[in-house]
Amino acid sequence: MEISIIAENTGGVLNPVTAQIISAAKMFEGDITVVCPGGFGAEEVAKISGVGKVVSVEGDCFSDFDGLAWCRAIDSVVTGEILLSSSSNFGREIISILAAMREIPAIQDITELTKEMIFTRPVLSGKAIEKLKISGPCAFTIRANIFPAAESDGNANISIINKSSEVGISVKEAISKANEKLDVSEAEIIISGGRGMGSPENFAHLYEISEVVGAAVGASRAAVDTWEEIPHSMQVGQTGKTVTPKLYVAVGISGAIQHLAGMRTSKYIVAINKDSEAPIFGVADYGIVANWEDALPILKDELEKLALD
Ligand SMILES: Cc1cc2nc3c(=O)[nH]c(=O)nc-3n(C[C@H](O)[C@H](O)[C@H](O)COP(=O)(O)OP(=O)(O)OC[C@H]3O[C@@H](n4cnc5c(N)ncnc54)[C@H](O)[C@@H]3O)c2cc1C
Repeated sequence: MEISIIAENTGGVLNPVTAQIISAAKMFEGDITVVCPGGFGAEEVAKISGVGKVVSVEGDCFSDFDGLAWCRAIDSVVTGEILLSSSSNFGREIISILAAMREIPAIQDITELTKEMIFTRPVLSGKAIEKLKISGPCAFTIRANIFPAAESDGNANISIINKSSEVGISVKEAISKANEKLDVSEAEIIISGGRGMGSPENFAHLYEISEVVGAAVGASRAAVDTWEEIPHSMQVGQTGKTVTPKLYVAVGISGAIQHLAGMRTSKYIVAINKDSEAPIFGVADYGIVANWEDALPILKDELEKLALD
């Protein structure tokens, strides 16, 4: 079986999700080719274990993102029966276009998959979980942080192809509502706030701590839905982002099943909640039963001392 993975880059730098997609693809025991649009990250991809071949497609059209132009340029080298990318905006667009060009099914947002090609994904805004059995060629996207990243001990060959196509739409600037800070899906430490934070202004306390330890700030859906200032890009959970950081700190979050769905695979979970019965304590490695107003200043002081040591 031949598998083609479309590598994802963020501002010309290989996105770590590509190593996770490669790790997932290894399950099919096929030949893995990674296509790097614009050549971004090709050398790094070649070192990822499990990659058989890297195709770096270079051309003028890759200077700005236009999904259709990029797909037309990479089309001839995407030869797998299985096409894969991540379920970011980039991956979803590329996979949909490539699938349409081939008249094969496109399945987005996979959270589980098996060697027998049974895929699981949330549908209807996470209200239901769908299981699909695929036979024949198909294209699909996988959520970030579901699979561990493949190791970097490979040594695949890189072929460079010059191919361009006409750009129809070019994205000149993407302005993130989520501010300039670290994205939750990429962070090793996340500190998330819920409705228990009381107001969006109180998230400033989480940002202060995030700066001490280099963390990203996340949120529960209740926080995102209640306060316009907290963007959906920060939402962790079934209908938000799935995260697997080394440390997840949940502050004023009750621990509803839909929130747990997005963070329970974190290596260590710390919960701060004034209600000792809150379900979040059921998954927490360390629980602090307290008002965050009392607990966060102490936590910040202690972390600052550690940072100085
Ligand atoms: C289809 C569907 C999809 C969903 N998807 C998601 C999702 O992706 N992510 C998500 O998070 N939710 C999701 N939800 C919503 C979820 O069910 C919960 O409603 C939500 O997670 C609750 O958010 P919360 O814990 O911030 O708020 P609450 O449940 O209101 O909890 C607030 C917590 O803060 C504590 N608290 C209050 N004041 C303080 C204080 N001063 N100090 C310390 N603790 C305090 C309280 O004891 C309480 O436990 C979804 C729901 C549905 C139906």
